[in-house]
Amino acid sequence: MEKTIFSRIIDREIPAKIIAENNDVVVIEDIAPKAPIHYLIIPKNPIRDIQSMTESDFKLANALFRMAQQLSREISGAEHFRVLINSGTGVGQSVPHLHLHFLAGKTFSDF
Ligand code: 5GP
Repeated sequence: MEKTIFSRIIDREIPAKIIAENNDVVVIEDIAPKAPIHYLIIPKNPIRDIQSMTESDFKLANALFRMAQQLSREISGAEHFRVLINSGTGVGQSVPHLHLHFLAGKTFSDF
């Protein structure tokens, strides 16, 4: 399978602003931010989307939410934030590698 753009970032083949990293996930700044703070929390394991998750992948949910909390408490300075996942091209997922958008710094009035 061809590597996703996020796997290539994780493997340092292409550059990105890396905000945080641990064994399970990497956090980068979104290249086209939709809010003053817009990070992507990406599992290192390239799962396509929520539909594709298997039983063992669900353990990753822990690491993803833990990282969202860490970004809020220790890194972004944003106590209030929005987390969003697009799962499938039909709702706008453009990179086929599961990721959480971590958005903060503005009020979202469209949802
Ligand atoms: P999706 O639409 O799949 O939910 O979100 C993909 C996100 O990845 C978009 O917000 C897009 O701006 C971001 N993105 C796409 N390619 C790159 C890249 O090469 N570098 C970074 N930092 N972000 C990217």
